Amino acid sequence: MNIKEIISQMTVEEKASLCSGLNNWFTKPIERLGVPSIMMTDGPHGLRKVVDGADELGASCSYPATCFPTAVLTACSFDTDLLAEMGAAIGAEAVSEDIAIVLGPGVNIKRSPLCGRNFEYFSEDPYLAGEMAAAFIQGVQSKGVGTSIKHFAANNQETRRFSTDAVVDERTLREIYFPAFEKAVKKSQPTTFMCSYNRVNGEYAAENFHLLTEVLRDEWGFDGVVISDWGAVNDRVEGVIAGLELEMPGGTNPNDEAIVAAVRSGKLPEATLDIAVERMLKLIERVGGNDSSVKYDIEAHNELACKVAAESMVLMKNDKGLLPLKKDAKVAFIGEFAEAPRYQGGGSSQVNPTMLTCAYDAAKTYGNITYSKGYSANHCDEPDAKLQAEAVAAAEDADVCVLFVGLPVSYETEGMDRSHMRMPRGQEALIEAVTIANPNVVVVLFNGSPVEMPWAHRVGAILEAYLGGQAGGSAISDLLYGKSNPCGKLAESFPIKLSDNPSYLYYLGEGDRAEYREGVFVGYRYYDAKEMEVLFPFGHGLSYTTFEYSNLRLSSNSIDDTENLTATVEIKNTGTVAGKEIVQLYVGPKDYDDRVIRVPKQLEGFKKIALEPGESKTVSFTLDKSSFAYYNTVVKDWHVLTGDYLIFVGASSRDLALQAEVFLTSTVRIPFRATPNTAVRDILRMDGGQAFVDELKASTPAFANIKGKPEPGTLEFMTQCMLPDMGLRMMNIFDSSRKDMTLEDLQDMLDKAVGDQVNND
Ligand code: BGC
Repeated sequence: MNIKEIISQMTVEEKASLCSGLNNWFTKPIERLGVPSIMMTDGPHGLRKVVDGADELGASCSYPATCFPTAVLTACSFDTDLLAEMGAAIGAEAVSEDIAIVLGPGVNIKRSPLCGRNFEYFSEDPYLAGEMAAAFIQGVQSKGVGTSIKHFAANNQETRRFSTDAVVDERTLREIYFPAFEKAVKKSQPTTFMCSYNRVNGEYAAENFHLLTEVLRDEWGFDGVVISDWGAVNDRVEGVIAGLELEMPGGTNPNDEAIVAAVRSGKLPEATLDIAVERMLKLIERVGGNDSSVKYDIEAHNELACKVAAESMVLMKNDKGLLPLKKDAKVAFIGEFAEAPRYQGGGSSQVNPTMLTCAYDAAKTYGNITYSKGYSANHCDEPDAKLQAEAVAAAEDADVCVLFVGLPVSYETEGMDRSHMRMPRGQEALIEAVTIANPNVVVVLFNGSPVEMPWAHRVGAILEAYLGGQAGGSAISDLLYGKSNPCGKLAESFPIKLSDNPSYLYYLGEGDRAEYREGVFVGYRYYDAKEMEVLFPFGHGLSYTTFEYSNLRLSSNSIDDTENLTATVEIKNTGTVAGKEIVQLYVGPKDYDDRVIRVPKQLEGFKKIALEPGESKTVSFTLDKSSFAYYNTVVKDWHVLTGDYLIFVGASSRDLALQAEVFLTSTVRIPFRATPNTAVRDILRMDGGQAFVDELKASTPAFANIKGKPEPGTLEFMTQCMLPDMGLRMMNIFDSSRKDMTLEDLQDMLDKAVGDQVNND
């Protein structure tokens, strides 16, 4: 396409027509100029290409496609190559279905375990979410298919999602809610962004110039198209001005006319519309025109879905080596999810799977297994006496019981948040009854987000299967019987109870206003800062083998913020079977500091490695300024505080066997003008500050007379305690010779004595 030429021939009406869809899934063609229509479809973990004329939801209303594990599970793989492979498979399916854009990945941060859409999102940690998203995007786009990273931004609840205002301070946005999006742009340049329904700091995301233009394009360098979430447009013309190119869905929408009218009235410069049109045409050119005669291998994709699930499921607990199951053990599978699994979440991401394997069918080939239903997923709020009695009888008769429990679809879905974190009472009662009948109980969990487990101490092993996709059943049976060795780790913390979660007091907010008052203390950042016990920490996951960490070395013990640092560590498989370990690196300040509130540590690197029994490998990580920085709202940039930092390496956020120390020096100075109210402790950090304060002290008898360590309770003692917090205005009270100085005089004095910048050190 000669894009400039096409634009020059377009009428204003044609230009406006490109800014909204033809219907639910297509863009509008402009036949006379040879502009084709392209199709997009959900996403993210498989295709939901809706059958013509079908109503929108319900698995059977879309063409069959491989249902891969949901993001809550795939993130636990900590495996970017695997995510790219899965993305490429979804891309290949999109090609064969003539789909130009897959609506995913979803990267919103899990602020609360209650969010009904957590299953579609990767993590509570922005570093991990960003790495996973970038890899997935690379995979899909390697097939010439576009992606739509969503939902930008701060869409962390389903309740009132169309109108709520996420009130989030700038630093928290930059450090927690933006980085996954930012990393995806910088590493993989997604073809499109999907803006969220909600407002962000007062303005709808769909018309938020700061988000869609200043941050996304000007700062991060995004060069694609922004699509509205389905129905997210409030004021269309404001949207075009803010940087929203495509409104979805389209159809009978008066907004095209509103755009034309705004151009005619001069409210919307035609040049602004032309920019949107040019971006749309570039997108259509880039992702349109794939050859849909190229078909994919349904079996191979099913096997890949199984591999992804097996590499991601997390062995949370395994006392006394209850797992793997012995082939000759008499095993009772109990719980409806063994036969009718929950394998994906409800809502727009629902896929009609090409096939479906349940754990019971898959495991039959391995061992001697009985099945009893135990509960009915649609009615398990209360125990079912008959089903429970049957389950107890089966348990009494077995060597080991495997209980398949979790959240029914009525408990979590797009469009609704959970109101509590418990599992259905009927299932909790079943767990209790079965553990009384048999001491050897394994629990397999199906859920899209953490649950409280008041029963955890009663069972021997817990396998977190999350929502494992169409082949999740095979993955579970392979893991239970040791054909696969568990190697996933939690991409989120499991608090003991809901009220432990940092957003607990503020989640959902007041009416349409949700203030993110916990700030940057999200997930493990909060639990660590509070030194709280959790049920299972971020990054936790067991294996059938064991690993030993040793010999952590840093390339230097002192660097400045323009230099890189390399951390190297050795890992050895000390067990008897081959396994994979996810080596995690966290960074945190060594000491508490009153200059900037910081989290104790955060994930800044991970590597997944495979090790044969007895084998060792060396793993290295490269850290740079971004690994140590916080977002400084004065310089509007990432900034490092000069000081000591700790580098932790280990197997989970709460199992960090090794640590090393490095001194970081900032090379950036922050603009700062001391006023007569600036505390001495802050003046001391400025150029010339120390000399100035020393001189003031020496010339003021009340301070000069304090010698050494004054006796507690004396006036000198109190004066000495107060001094660091006094500004020049307060200090003058102690000095009769300066009593008559005005605030202006004091300001003059300061301006002459100290610089107007601070290094924050
Ligand atoms: C969801 C999006 C989805 C779109 C199209 C919206 O309601 O929020 O994630 O891609 O519908 O189905």
